[in-house]
Amino acid sequence: MYCRDPQMLSAPTRRLRRMRSLVNSIPIILLTAFVWVGVLNLIPSLSPILSAPGWALLAIASVFFALPGVLANVSIRNGTVPCPCCGEPFAPRTGFYIAEECQNCGFNCRTQTRRGDF
Ligand SMILES: [Zn+2]
Repeated sequence: MYCRDPQMLSAPTRRLRRMRSLVNSIPIILLTAFVWVGVLNLIPSLSPILSAPGWALLAIASVFFALPGVLANVSIRNGTVPCPCCGEPFAPRTGFYIAEECQNCGFNCRTQTRRGDF
């Protein structure tokens, strides 16, 4: 059974969007960490100035974004996060990137519309 009431869909859709943005921010955090380590290794004179604040920023980003992102990724891939529209698992067969459409019904969590709806 599909739910089409926008007011009933808004809270679970907002939660799903937050989880999705956390999961999709993990590669950006990892890329930032690699670039940061590369810059510190390529320019050793910057290391005493930039290493402590850089590692502190990476530690904060890891604690507040990457760790919850990994947990959200595991729960989405295990199917414990249901689609707000159809109630089935939102993206059980997915990789690192969580798409914005449900794999079962095509509900778009950004636009709150379903494929084929007007
Ligand atoms: Zn769905």
